[in-house]
Amino acid sequence: MKIIRKSFKIDISYHFMKKAIFLDRDGVINKKAIEGEYISSFNEFEFLPGVLESLKKVPKTDYLLIIVTNQRGIARKKISINDLELIHNKMLNEMDKYGINIDKIYFCPHNYGECKCRKPDVGMIEMAEKDFKIDMENSWMIGDSLSDIELGIKKRLQTVYLGNNLETKMISNYSFDNLSNAIDLILSLSKKY
Ligand SMILES: [Mg+2]
Ligand SMILES: [Zn+2]
Repeated sequence: MKIIRKSFKIDISYHFMKKAIFLDRDGVINKKAIEGEYISSFNEFEFLPGVLESLKKVPKTDYLLIIVTNQRGIARKKISINDLELIHNKMLNEMDKYGINIDKIYFCPHNYGECKCRKPDVGMIEMAEKDFKIDMENSWMIGDSLSDIELGIKKRLQTVYLGNNLETKMISNYSFDNLSNAIDLILSLSKKY
């Protein structure tokens, strides 16, 4: 027997709120720079295999796609905000060719301990909550770092870890090697309800 949950809260979320997939950038969407280095121009920006194909599958009507990225290279003067925005504009252009619409990119330009937005702090997600009506309970955080998963847990998002660290795997809801598998999982789960 299938139990149909019905409540005022669910009705509201159905009509007014949207689920979101929060995506980390480096190591999820594009190849990470080597340790201590930063992607400082689009020439160095390389989409990971399958990323564009998988994001293309996410129905625009079902999920907001929101990128949340720590960019400490700005605080360290390794890259300017202008350069970062250039990279992001070019990235969005490439995505657009695939019909992928990123609803917003939030970045933290600060150094450790300077702000409330550097992951695992919750500032970027809380800005997104202010900017969009997000059904947080049914939203996801996908990242390749412990800080992404910790952030997801703090905000009670469902978490998907893309990496091999055993302790981080233990605290995430799911873990995979790449974004394609994560997106397939999310889409297959959302079909059931
Ligand atoms: Mg990352
Ligand atoms: Zn910050």
